[in-house]
Amino acid sequence: MTIYRAQVLDAPEDPFRDGALRAEADAGLLVTADGQIADRGAFAEVRARHGTEPVCELTDGLLLPGFVDTHVHYPQARIIGDLGMPLLDWLDRSALPEEARFADLGYARDVAAEFVSGLADAGTTTALVFGAHFAPAVDALFTAASARGLRITSGLVVSDRLLRPELHTTPERAYDEGLALANRWHGQGRNRYAVIPRFALSCTDDLLASCAALHTAVPGSWFTSHVNENTAEIETVRDLFECSYVGSYDRHGLIGSRTVLAHNVHPTDEELERLATGGAAVAHCPTSNAALGSGLFPLHRHLTHRVPVALGSDVGAGTGYSLFKEGLQAYFMQRLRGADGVPLTSTHLLYLATTAGAAALGLEGSVGDLSAGKRFDALWLRPPPGSPLDVGLRSASGPEEALARAFAQGVSSDVAGVWVDGERIKPDMMS
Ligand SMILES: [Zn+2]
Repeated sequence: MTIYRAQVLDAPEDPFRDGALRAEADAGLLVTADGQIADRGAFAEVRARHGTEPVCELTDGLLLPGFVDTHVHYPQARIIGDLGMPLLDWLDRSALPEEARFADLGYARDVAAEFVSGLADAGTTTALVFGAHFAPAVDALFTAASARGLRITSGLVVSDRLLRPELHTTPERAYDEGLALANRWHGQGRNRYAVIPRFALSCTDDLLASCAALHTAVPGSWFTSHVNENTAEIETVRDLFECSYVGSYDRHGLIGSRTVLAHNVHPTDEELERLATGGAAVAHCPTSNAALGSGLFPLHRHLTHRVPVALGSDVGAGTGYSLFKEGLQAYFMQRLRGADGVPLTSTHLLYLATTAGAAALGLEGSVGDLSAGKRFDALWLRPPPGSPLDVGLRSASGPEEALARAFAQGVSSDVAGVWVDGERIKPDMMS
């Protein structure tokens, strides 16, 4: 066992319901050989209780729970930063041509390695990942994620209309290929399977029905897709299905407690009510929403309807892997909403990036905070000595202020260490 000594901050209780930041300036976390936090407290007390165990000193900086990214696209790793287009143009001109390249397994393997490095380097330890439209490329992702040690929920992305022909499948093939992938990866190591129609716009009812059948056939599988991102997209979905965007999934039984829908920038009250009663969560992707001009996320309405919200980077419409940046952009977005924006504190941002994400993925019993009994999934933010963030952390008057500075200035290169299940995955010991 190992005692990790650090300044530890986490947000186990929902700050939207009066939960406070939990901050310990000199904490000790006793972690077992298999990665569970067995004891937690003031370092001196933990040391006294377990005097013979070695101590890992994480001097300076902050130890935080590993980030949970609830919406990120692996085949878009190389197109981050294609700015200047709204959603449907960006798909046609940037995302879909790139995603067609994943028919080439060698290309997919190269990007899969880059992608998992991007997540791990950012301090993201758990992610709900949009896979590729090609089954071998999804296999490559699970292989790469397993090698690096990430906690991944992912699957084959399926569509059968309105994209490019090479990205289309059939309901039967979608089911068969998805089941084969799930049989290989679901519940293996830290991997779980997700059923992923790209978005209702590019899926017929027959394909969504096959997704529902697969979701039922794979117990414990997750369901994820996009919803209500862009007004032009929403109008098309309404024309195609003659119902609401949420309704297009709901009529196939796809709104439930293992559902995460990305964006939801323009929901109706009825849709929010249905998400709440179904127990579905929303992945809020603020840099993507800003980059594509999709809109200002109505967080207040989600909170009012009690729809769970977590953060997603939405790489590559989003502008990077770091949930520090997404947290900051979420804060900006609420500021810019004016009177109905939700004033977010640094505690809210940490909660959205960790505990809320774990809950959205049904992993709240094991990750999301650094309580005794949880897995040791953590990131150590330790900026270079003398850097602006280092100066900011050292001069902060308290933990909330230090955390705000971390979200304002933190980048992946400030993350000096990352652990999943107690295994250090950054620096990458394999490379
Ligand atoms: Zn997306």
